[in-house]
Amino acid sequence: MTKTVEIKNSEYFLLSTKQKDWLDKAYKFANRVTVDSILEADSQNIFPYDLFEAACEVGFGSLPFEPGFGGGGGDYVSFALVNEVMARKSVPIMSSLGVHVLCQEPIYAFGTLDQKNKYLIPSSSGKALGAFGLTEPEAGSDTANIQTQAKMVANGYVLNGTKVFITSGASASFYIVMARLITENNNGNTNGKGKSDTITAFIVDRQTAGLSIGQKFDMLGMRGYSTCELVFNDCFVPSENLLGEHFHGRKVALSSLAKGRVTIASQATGWAYGAIDALMVYFKRHPKAMKKTYYERIGHLLALAASTRIKTLEAASLVDTGNLSVKDSSIAKWHATDVAMEVVSEAMNIVGIECQDKSLLLEKIYRDAKAGQIYEGTNQIQRMLVGKFLT
Ligand SMILES: Cc1cc2nc3c(=O)[nH]c(=O)nc-3n(C[C@H](O)[C@H](O)[C@H](O)COP(=O)(O)OP(=O)(O)OC[C@H]3O[C@@H](n4cnc5c(N)ncnc54)[C@H](O)[C@@H]3O)c2cc1C
Repeated sequence: MTKTVEIKNSEYFLLSTKQKDWLDKAYKFANRVTVDSILEADSQNIFPYDLFEAACEVGFGSLPFEPGFGGGGGDYVSFALVNEVMARKSVPIMSSLGVHVLCQEPIYAFGTLDQKNKYLIPSSSGKALGAFGLTEPEAGSDTANIQTQAKMVANGYVLNGTKVFITSGASASFYIVMARLITENNNGNTNGKGKSDTITAFIVDRQTAGLSIGQKFDMLGMRGYSTCELVFNDCFVPSENLLGEHFHGRKVALSSLAKGRVTIASQATGWAYGAIDALMVYFKRHPKAMKKTYYERIGHLLALAASTRIKTLEAASLVDTGNLSVKDSSIAKWHATDVAMEVVSEAMNIVGIECQDKSLLLEKIYRDAKAGQIYEGTNQIQRMLVGKFLT
């Protein structure tokens, strides 16, 4: 007799009523997004801004922040749940939503009152979209090797350099940009303390003269996020757009990247469950294919996905209590994205050639999960960071 599998989601049992409300809102939102629109964003590589604005209207755009400055008044556990659902259902704004919050985080932490009013309030409604400019052609994992320069001039800074692979880049209205600060005194040198000593953070408006969108990347996974180059060519940024203090760019970046890795872990949890959902659709189409051996293999996949959800929600609750360490966020990110890759690969093995049917979304999840292992720090680098803590 063929057994059916019920996905119980029992790891949710500890959630508060408020957290469950966010989870319900996320499912309500995601269930309205059609597979056709998901496939269109993916194949045409276009970012559906309307959908992003609609998500902000529900409150997802600034969910984990206090109500002042437009924050949604939720917590990181709730934001993790929303991201999990967005990824599980392949909602094509998922990655931009994560980056958007990643950009608001340092403005809350280090921004001036004017910056908070100017960027956070429109961010919460979706009128503004943030993008995070860190990576460069010669500075991926080695972020200390940033070559973009910010030269100090009267009333501001002049930026020159190129950022690559910037999620939401071509759709965003402002950017958090990391650059090497050149002052009269340091001439770009680091006083011998370390390569990252001069890195400084700026908020750059999209319309700033001297900033242009370079090549748009035709990505393998995470398509449809207007991922592109940002080119700074004598781009004048006024003093009031300095974010935090001179030479504190690393501190500014780290304040949000550790939380960002938890967000990625929650996306990966969603990919793992999304792959299992696709498997269930496949078995509905082919009930006779559900043999006993497959039943056991699906149990194995559910165990992997549940372990990831537990680790991710644990990490998110550490954010909420102010106890998240780089070690915890790195472990959550690498574990979740590796598990997602394992689960989706195995789901594809079970489905066989039908995994190429795009409407199952399995092959899309496979491509997205691969990107998840790389972005915001490769999993090899995460293990290296954790190793440093443990030795
Ligand atoms: C979908 C996607 C979206 C992205 N969005 C953004 C964005 O919004 N903003 C942004 O700034 N960046 C973004 N990135 C860039 C991303 O953060 C980088 O790709 C990532 O940091 C890795 O850098 P890299 O690709 O240059 O790889 P590299 O740093 O060149 O690494 C290549 C390989 O070498 C290994 N390696 C490197 N250094 C070491 C070392 N010291 N020890 C051992 N192994 C090492 C790595 O683990 C990896 O396997 C995005 C990337 C992707 C794929």
